[in-house]
Amino acid sequence: MGTHYDVLIVGGGHAGSTAAIMLRQNGFEGSIAIAGDEPELPYERPPLSKEYFAGEKEFERILIRPEAFWAERNVEMLLGRRVTAVDAGARSVALEDGETLTYGKLIWAAGGTPRRLVCAGHDLARVHAVRNRVDVDRMMSELPEVARAVVIGGGYIGLEAAAVLAKLGKQVVLLEALDRVLARVAGEDISRFYEADHRAHGVDIRTGVAVDCITGEAHATGVRLADGSEIAADMVIVGVGIAPAVEPLAAAGAVIGNGVEVDEYCRTSLPDIYAVGDCAAHENRFAGGARVRVESVQNANDQATTAAKHIVGTAEPYAAIPWFWSNQYDLRLQTVGISAGHDETVLRGDPAARSFSVIYLKNGAVVALDCVNAVKDYVQGRKLVVERMSPEKARLADASVPLKELL
Ligand SMILES: Cc1cc2nc3c(=O)[nH]c(=O)nc-3n(C[C@H](O)[C@H](O)[C@H](O)COP(=O)(O)OP(=O)(O)OC[C@H]3O[C@@H](n4cnc5c(N)ncnc54)[C@H](O)[C@@H]3O)c2cc1C
Repeated sequence: MGTHYDVLIVGGGHAGSTAAIMLRQNGFEGSIAIAGDEPELPYERPPLSKEYFAGEKEFERILIRPEAFWAERNVEMLLGRRVTAVDAGARSVALEDGETLTYGKLIWAAGGTPRRLVCAGHDLARVHAVRNRVDVDRMMSELPEVARAVVIGGGYIGLEAAAVLAKLGKQVVLLEALDRVLARVAGEDISRFYEADHRAHGVDIRTGVAVDCITGEAHATGVRLADGSEIAADMVIVGVGIAPAVEPLAAAGAVIGNGVEVDEYCRTSLPDIYAVGDCAAHENRFAGGARVRVESVQNANDQATTAAKHIVGTAEPYAAIPWFWSNQYDLRLQTVGISAGHDETVLRGDPAARSFSVIYLKNGAVVALDCVNAVKDYVQGRKLVVERMSPEKARLADASVPLKELL
């Protein structure tokens, strides 16, 4: 048997690195290792479609902690090491290079793998996903030869990448299969606002379109749509979501749905195996108790903290309020709560002034806010969501009334 760790963490992203940090912060003195398949120390993923891609932030500035931190905290970094199998009975994992490691507790924090297109040309050169540093470094190295880019997928990552490309002076076409961008995560007011803003920045947003294939020989040169038309492109970026990275856990017998299912302490159905972050499906009170997978830094960090505290014996059930942000052009969107399932919206402020909020209600109670350049609403609105308050709609809509006065 190979090396034994009291806690072995699989995946060195936001959730995995935070689990190690929180274990030490909460007094855990046993051995800890992070086995991560990327060659880098843990780094922040959000800048990959924002400042890092734009060339405004160097890689060292997006490291979650400097190298010395991990050595000082005695967290062993097994970088470039992929876990291929888990044996829950033997409390061991197999690495791709043939080594076996044993553990006391395993924290699975493997995130997700970008969904690929299945059409012809999906694997051509110059077709990119945006998930890790390697993806973005490759995109950046091609930029000097790119005049025209096509982005497939109008979620946050696609829109952020489109904003960077537009700012860099590239001609950008963004294709979305549904009838509006951000359809899965935001209400229609937000979608229409972002569509208009991108168009004002020169991005050609096309909704309700189906991709037939990616064309090109040595590399991608265009995207053909189902209606037979073709859009020329020197680069294609695909942002159509992720599939949770849970195969070894599934093979080991864990209960899997949309991700690996965990309880309120982030425990999987397998003994001494936790799962946290993008790969973990949990019952979320802010989604009305539905089992969801939340893809955000907040969720990764807070679930990692829950698992770490459970291991040291100071557990609190996971009940953190979801929050998220997205930066595009001069727009900072901040979201709190989960808007899916809302039955009413209230617009607060003036979109034309580029500072406003959309408040989502369900049965009259506030379930979420999307705040665009409206940080006060975001900060003060949190409590409305936590307490599920039902303020008068006219007062919610009146931007001259601070939200804290409605508490
Ligand atoms: C481009 C981009 C922009 C984003 N912007 C925002 C934002 O603005 N705000 C926000 O809140 N969230 C944002 N997110 C989402 C956020 O980054 C994720 O929710 C977060 O990274 C999830 O953390 P995680 O640790 O679960 O997964 P990850 O950070 O993906 O880490 C998982 C790690 O595990 C590794 N791994 C996978 N399988 C194995 C294996 N078998 N063995 C070993 N290692 C493995 C992966 O390579 C990866 O390094 C963004 C994500 C991306 C990609």
